[in-house]
Amino acid sequence: MESIVSKILQHQKFSIPEILILLNAENEDERLLYQKAREIKLLNTGDKVYLRGLIEFSNVCDKDCFYCGIRKSNKRIKRYFLSDEEVIKASRFAFSNKYGSIVLLSGEMKSEKFVERIERLVKQIRQITGDEFGITLSCGEQSKTTYLRWFKAGATRYLLRIETANENLYNKIHPNDRSHDFQSRVNSLAVLKKIGYQVGTGIMVGLPGQTLLHLAEDILFMKKLDIDMCGIGPFIEHHETPLFHHNNIWDLDSRFDLTLKVLAIIRIMMKNINIAASTALQSIDKFGREKAIQLAANVFMPNLTPVHYREDYSLYDNKSCVKESPDDCQICTTARIEMVNGNIAFGEPGDSTHYILRKSKV
Ligand code: SAM
Ligand code: SF4
Repeated sequence: MESIVSKILQHQKFSIPEILILLNAENEDERLLYQKAREIKLLNTGDKVYLRGLIEFSNVCDKDCFYCGIRKSNKRIKRYFLSDEEVIKASRFAFSNKYGSIVLLSGEMKSEKFVERIERLVKQIRQITGDEFGITLSCGEQSKTTYLRWFKAGATRYLLRIETANENLYNKIHPNDRSHDFQSRVNSLAVLKKIGYQVGTGIMVGLPGQTLLHLAEDILFMKKLDIDMCGIGPFIEHHETPLFHHNNIWDLDSRFDLTLKVLAIIRIMMKNINIAASTALQSIDKFGREKAIQLAANVFMPNLTPVHYREDYSLYDNKSCVKESPDDCQICTTARIEMVNGNIAFGEPGDSTHYILRKSKV
């Protein structure tokens, strides 16, 4: 007899009850879910895996999110900024090794000095790489003017995770003040889209107090927002954060399994978006990113941060790839992607197909 999961996968109508059934899928049903996600991934994005060189530009942050190891109140880390030369060197490395794109990731700062510096660096990188290179920024919530300045300078993509689409849960994992406001974050995503960026968002899976219902709401939130890109990873504790001691939480293996399920459902519901295999997956399972690529993800992010800074960009405990050089990461990336029969799209910027189609309709 056909299972209910099989029926849902055939009919492809997704509201909260259907998503909850998929999130609960086990054994043969879980296998069916993964098989469907993989089929849809191959049909819509092929076997290509796009590379994004990750440059962790700075761990200085004005915010105090309760889960994050580089939050402002953590006085036990060494704060750093990469120099202009280091950012340019890492970008050149990505370009000359045919990575197709980079992601500049940092804590959130709003000072004119910071805004101007990012603007100048983006312009320089764009000059070196020409138009056929993806420049993604992930520098938090900024004003419309700032997003516009960075877009005009040459940034084409922006990643801003909503973290959780449930406002109550959001308020529990952030301080209660104006700079950690849920509606402002939602609004930032709308502004980014309006400006013309390829917009990515995502969540952490396994936050204290999070339920399967929250995850189902998150998935529908991303669908409704009509996102182009998605970055999702398991929540992992950091020992210097308020969320370190918390009980109402799934164990690490369950968080890992649930993350894979969420990724599979997202691929099935949002067929042609770009989905990243997050680094946090690898901190729980040494083949975590490959497992994500196998079933749903089509983006891999080798770390290009100069090695002596990596330990200080610790968002969570046991972060992987902190000792390897960019050259080591390059060799390792190729081997890992080939292991799961992925085809590295060297030299391709890998714009999200969803974005290309969205733009062609305007
Ligand atoms: N500061 C920017 C922001 O918050 O959007 C960009 C950098 S921030 C470090 C990138 C992402 O790291 C966050 O959106 C969050 O999802 C993730 N992150 C932070 N702490 C984490 C943790 N303890 N476990 C897993 N992911 C975490
Ligand atoms: Fe800062 Fe981003 Fe970490 Fe929040 S998640 S403390 S904004 S770096």
